[in-house]
Amino acid sequence: MGAAVAAGGRCRCWCCGKGRCRADPCGVLCLLLTYLSVGYADYVILEHVLLQPGFRGSLWCPFHAVAFNFIVVMLLACHTRAVFADPGMVPLPDTAIDFSDLRSSGSGGSHKNSRNNEDWTVCNRCETYRPPRAHHCRVCHRCVRRMDHHCPWINNCVGELNQKYFIQFLFYTGLASLYAMGLVLTTWLWPTDKSSAGKAEGAEGGVSNNRIQIAHRIILLVESILFGLFVTVIFYDQLVSIITDETPIEQLRNRLLKEARREVSHTRKPKIALLREVFGRGLVICWFFPCNCSSPSASGPSYSYLPNYDV
Ligand SMILES: [Zn+2]
Ligand SMILES: [Zn+2]
Repeated sequence: MGAAVAAGGRCRCWCCGKGRCRADPCGVLCLLLTYLSVGYADYVILEHVLLQPGFRGSLWCPFHAVAFNFIVVMLLACHTRAVFADPGMVPLPDTAIDFSDLRSSGSGGSHKNSRNNEDWTVCNRCETYRPPRAHHCRVCHRCVRRMDHHCPWINNCVGELNQKYFIQFLFYTGLASLYAMGLVLTTWLWPTDKSSAGKAEGAEGGVSNNRIQIAHRIILLVESILFGLFVTVIFYDQLVSIITDETPIEQLRNRLLKEARREVSHTRKPKIALLREVFGRGLVICWFFPCNCSSPSASGPSYSYLPNYDV
């Protein structure tokens, strides 16, 4: 998989032709690490926590197994959608657009000349017009509408059309981390069947098994704390980005503009309206599921395409 540079510097993926396949080594490594971490956490919870003496015969065993695996399935479903969904890539024109007049005049085109979020601009790398708030991703080699950032953990950009799935992935990862930590700590610190645990320790090989079990629990605890803290910070940043209606790129640009001009005019929408733009306009319960019912794409972008786009 990879992107081939076409004439004029534009990049198209040679296998799908749409530029959605990303051969970024860091992204592929992070994807593998994500699946390995989730699989390992599920294995430790089932094998070394729930199926151990004290839990195995209890009704809590199937309850926690179903509940934890439901969160894991939701996590993977949201992650898969975030990975494979179109983040909102600006389509490339079928025929090259001549921007020589814009380049020679040095105005009206380059993003460097854009003064606010409402202007259509020209991407010199994609050689196309792009709508307001679109930015070029150097990893995907494409412009993405309302681009938040390129995330190696989903090997994709976080943009207008997949931000919802990305935030859901963060939410379920945080929930799974919290759940795993709770299960490990409660069964470790307050074992419900001390006699069985004692027998297990006394049996042949019981001591070494117990050490392996403790090692797995410690590794899972560390993994859960690290991932839990990591996704909590990003989840918070994402919510702030939504309710302030500014992506990190725009925050940086507006800060620089503010410092330069000491004034930035930015229309604020109600916070709930901004949240609905990302998570959809349906019921709030739908915000927790990776479905696209009444998704932001259904209502379409809030701007119109240029009439002479296919020049
Ligand atoms: Zn571009
Ligand atoms: Zn990207």
